[in-house]
Amino acid sequence: MSGSRTDSERETGVVLGFLEEAERWQLASAQFPSKVGGKPAWLSLLNLPTVAELVCETCQLPTVFLLQVYAPIVGQERSFHRTLYVFCCKTPACYTANDNRCFKVYRSQLPRKNDFYPYDPPSDEEPAARADDECVLGSGVKLCRLCGCAGHKACSRCHTVTYCSKEHQATDWKQRHKKECSTSSVSDAVNMFLFPEWELVTEPEKLLVTDDEPPDSNSLQQANIASSDLEESELESMALHESQDSKIFQKFKERIATEPHQVLRYCREGSPLWVSSKHVPGKDDIPKCPCGANRIFEFQVMPQLLNHLKVDRPDASIDWGTLVVFTCAASCDQVNNYSAEFIWKQDFSVDQAV
Ligand SMILES: [Zn+2]
Ligand SMILES: [Zn+2]
Ligand SMILES: [Zn+2]
Ligand SMILES: [Zn+2]
Repeated sequence: MSGSRTDSERETGVVLGFLEEAERWQLASAQFPSKVGGKPAWLSLLNLPTVAELVCETCQLPTVFLLQVYAPIVGQERSFHRTLYVFCCKTPACYTANDNRCFKVYRSQLPRKNDFYPYDPPSDEEPAARADDECVLGSGVKLCRLCGCAGHKACSRCHTVTYCSKEHQATDWKQRHKKECSTSSVSDAVNMFLFPEWELVTEPEKLLVTDDEPPDSNSLQQANIASSDLEESELESMALHESQDSKIFQKFKERIATEPHQVLRYCREGSPLWVSSKHVPGKDDIPKCPCGANRIFEFQVMPQLLNHLKVDRPDASIDWGTLVVFTCAASCDQVNNYSAEFIWKQDFSVDQAV
């Protein structure tokens, strides 16, 4: 309409994550990768989360590694290296609306001078030495051969492979180990249990903005207005919710339209992009860290990631609108330990066809 408006690209402060293929060695612990699928690349090589800590609270089966984000905090020595891990259940029936019990999040961090990695950053070249044995970390911690989490139970016949649980031993027996165990060969069959593996590469989000429009109107604020509007009569409130809901969903779609392949949005202390006005957490819904600090938004996993996980089934399926991760605002010290953090699952409303 007006010829005086100028369009420009502005960075929003959000960093977007995209999937890319990578060499195996680039996704090993020593490279401090961000990645999706495969086995976790553990940062601290001691005190990994236990099987009990990693089971789905709904079906009680061990969860599987979904992704990890390397997210050091600049200027904080204890977080010189810092990685966040997300695990999810593989039982489609556990994915009920807005229910986060089938997810687990852990944080690991190390100072620059630590027991596991050199002081100087890794080189861009493939290291001459092969990466760690698949089943044992450099620290001597044994890993489950199927899922890559801590696993100390050895196969009672050959004693060469270890597992985290009976379930994973049984799965691997059927898929691979039955043949290997008696012949002491190593199967090169693909581990079908894990999600396909990708590197997660990041890029700052840039939006085309016109000068009379603020670059980042806050969708969280709007969502809160909608969900706190309890004074209305029920009908009015429902109508309001509906229009607020479609507004927020519209906003979601518009915001991701410029980079439709984004699978992750990272903005520590920023605001998530909600897919719906329903089931937006209030302040009391996000538990504090055991250290006493509040938890703040750090990143969200987008529904686009589902397209790459090969989880589609005709009946039930692993599914989410968005997964929002909140972490300790202080990123408190934990010396070689893994700390549980908090995840919020928000699904699309029923009337939102995607
Ligand atoms: Zn489950
Ligand atoms: Zn396992
Ligand atoms: Zn065996
Ligand atoms: Zn804390």
